[in-house]
Order: sequence, then C-alpha cells, then structure tokens
Amino acid sequence: MNNKNAWKTYTEEDINGLERLNASYRKFLSDCKTERECTKEIIRRAEEAGYIDLDTCINEGKTIKSGDKLYAVNMNKSVALFNIGKRPISEGMNIIGAHIDSPRLDVKQNPLYEEGGMAYLDTHYYGGIKKYQWAALPLAIHGVIVKKDGTCVEVCVGEEDDDPVFCITDLLIHLSSKQMEKTGAKVIEGEQLDVVVGSIPLSDSEKNCVKENVLNILKKEYDIEEEDFVSAELEVVPAGKARELGFDRGMIMSYGQDDRVCAFTSLEAQLNVENPERTTCCLLVDKEEIGSVGATGMRSHFFENTVSEIINLMEEYSELKVRRCLKNSYMLSTDVNAGYDPMFAEVFDSKNASYCGNGVVFSKYTGSRGKSGSNDANAEYIAKIRNVMDNNNVVYQTAELGKVDAGGGGTIAYILSLYGMEVIDCGVAVLNMHAPWEIVSKADVYETEKCYRAFLREMI
Ligand code: MN
Ligand code: MN
Repeated sequence: MNNKNAWKTYTEEDINGLERLNASYRKFLSDCKTERECTKEIIRRAEEAGYIDLDTCINEGKTIKSGDKLYAVNMNKSVALFNIGKRPISEGMNIIGAHIDSPRLDVKQNPLYEEGGMAYLDTHYYGGIKKYQWAALPLAIHGVIVKKDGTCVEVCVGEEDDDPVFCITDLLIHLSSKQMEKTGAKVIEGEQLDVVVGSIPLSDSEKNCVKENVLNILKKEYDIEEEDFVSAELEVVPAGKARELGFDRGMIMSYGQDDRVCAFTSLEAQLNVENPERTTCCLLVDKEEIGSVGATGMRSHFFENTVSEIINLMEEYSELKVRRCLKNSYMLSTDVNAGYDPMFAEVFDSKNASYCGNGVVFSKYTGSRGKSGSNDANAEYIAKIRNVMDNNNVVYQTAELGKVDAGGGGTIAYILSLYGMEVIDCGVAVLNMHAPWEIVSKADVYETEKCYRAFLREMI
C-alpha cells in the first residue's frame, strides 16, 4: 500500500482553504494554552455559531428539538457540543472527542520560596514529559487564583512582547561532567523543575527579602496573599506564539498541539456541519494526559449525564433511551499519533507509521505490550469509515504508535467503547510529541478537519 502525500493533491482553492484554516489554528494555539482558556474560547465560538447553554434550557424547561444547537460546560474545563439531528436520538449520535489538556508544569499549593538570592515557584509536572526539555526556555504562567470570597483572579504572564518570562535553569556545560553521565530521566529531576520568578530584594527587610518583594508585587497586581496559592491553579507553559516551520512554511511549531490540533479541528468540523441527519456531538475534555481521571476527565459521568438531560428535554425520558443512544453512536477518538521521524527510525515500523503530510491518521488500536489497554476498532466499522473518507476525497493513512514493544500510549477511545459504541482513534501525526514545542503538518490539519466534517455529516 502506498501512502499519498496530501500536498500533491491540492488545487489553488485547497491551498487557500488550508492557509485560512491554519492561520485560525495558529491563533487558537497562541491564545489557548490551558484547558480553561480553551473552554472559554470554545464557548465563545459556539455561541457565535448559535449554540445555547444546556443549563439555560434545563432551568427554563425548554423543549429540545431537531435543529437545536446546545453546549454544556463542566467546571470551566471541558465542553460538550450537540447539534440535534433529524433522526431520533436513540438511533445514535456521531461523536468526535478530543482533549484540551496538555503536558505542563503545575505550580504547587505552597510554592513560593527563596534560595541563593532568587525567588522560585515550586512545581509538580503534569502528564508525561522529558523533564530536561523544560529547562533553559522562556516560560509563561497561565491560570486562576480563587480567593476565599470566591473572586477568581485570572493570570496570564509571559505572552505579550513586553511581559516578563520565567525560567527553569540548567547547569552550565563547563560543570556538567557528572550530569552528562546521567540517564535522560535523571538529567533534570522532578524537584529541580522550579521556576525562577524574582531576584530583587525588598530593601527594608532582612530575611527572605526577594520572596517578600515578589509577594508585594503579587499583592499589587492581583490583590492576593501568599495563602491564596492554596486555591490556585497556575500552569507553567512555554512562552510564545505558534509559528510556521520551514522555508516552505509547510508545518506548524507550537506548544500544546497534543491534543489541541484535534480539539481545534473537531470544533471546526462540529461548527461547520448544518442540519445533520444524526445528532452530532463534539467532546472537548480535560485530564487525558493523566488518565482521564477526575470530574472533568472523560471517565466522569458528565457526558452520560448531559445526554440524559438532553433526552429528558426532547421526549419522555427513560434510561433505556440513553443507553440505546450511546450504544448506537459512532465515535472518532480524535487524538494525535507519533509522526515518523527519520532521526529515530528505529522505533517505527515504516509500513505502519504515520507520516507528516500524508493526511489524517486512523489507528485501529493503540495500547502497549500486545495491544494492552487499547480499544481495538471493528473491521466492519473501519470499512464504513473508509467509504465515507473516499467519497469525500479525504487523504488518510493508517498507523500504529511505534513498533511493537517500543512503548505505547492510549486515548479516551476505550472509555466511550464501554457503552458498546463503535470507536476508532483518528488524528494528526505529531513530531516532538509532549515536548515544549510540537510540530504538525498544515496539510494534516486541513485533511483532519475534512475528515471530521465528513464523519459527522455522513456516517449513518
Ligand atoms: Mn493526546
Ligand atoms: Mn499526550
């Protein structure tokens, strides 16, 4: 089987569409670096497209019918969008689901200290990272500090041209003879990922005077006390905007493309489908990088509860209808795959790898050590999808995440498959996955949106 390079198939019109979509994608990446920032932007775009808050419908006892567009928000960290189709909802929905959390460093609850004349914020990393990649880079801090009276202070420092940035220091090469002998996992260790946030002492204090100065600045800027860190969620992320990569500008380099490349294209597809046959649903969830846990992760009952609320406002409610709706649904678990990297060719089976520029990637299964933990999509379902993709001229490829026994990974696919629905992993090939700066092909962004749109509209 030969893979097709998507770039070779494009007309001028395609290129124009591709550039428009990717410009908007870069803006999304630059503006939305946390799950909360993504949620806010998703709601803004959904409302602009005529979606209304499901909570409002519930409170007003509004009847939901075909043609209605609804969104439901879970704790400002995940969102579900529904475009109610013509067919009865118990016949199933077409669902696409991505995650909006990305690997990063979370500020601890008691984080601020002074050492060696500098003030630091202590962090605990979130998700799977190569720790050494996060040192000696400009970093930004995004998040919220919630005060005891409930006031929520939003923080975003390090993104504007005249903002200060932050940094985790690395050891100079001159003194690194011991460090360079360590294994990659130990070059920089978890407790060394503390961020430098200040260096000027407060003139009239003696002890911890640099820390005191930082606290004074935080008091002035945000009206917060040191204790308020206890109820804060501050995320340290790479500072800077998404950029085009290469002389030909064919790729995008940015923080957080796992999985915002699929979140963005999923949202785009959901908003681009009008009057669907089957109800379309777009899930944009939190906590995938740490196992889809917690109230805002895919394993919570939020999605099931939301579907129940919708059915309750559509017709006479029964649990059986909810179960039938979920069982009869089709889903694309929209998450990224490992792009083939010739510099590390040994971890890929080149026949079953995803290549940047060869279109959207389908993975029948993920997992590791003999498909363990994977959702193995059914052949019948894959055949049906192939048909829809070919009818819509979508350039697609199939891939596994690396060689058998090289490692592995998972997505939210297995969680939705528990309802008995058909699910397959489908997303974008990424280079540098989980590094501060990840890379994708613009052509793949374009093909992926086309794929999701065709799936939502035509899977029946
Ligand atoms: Mn992912
Ligand atoms: Mn990931």
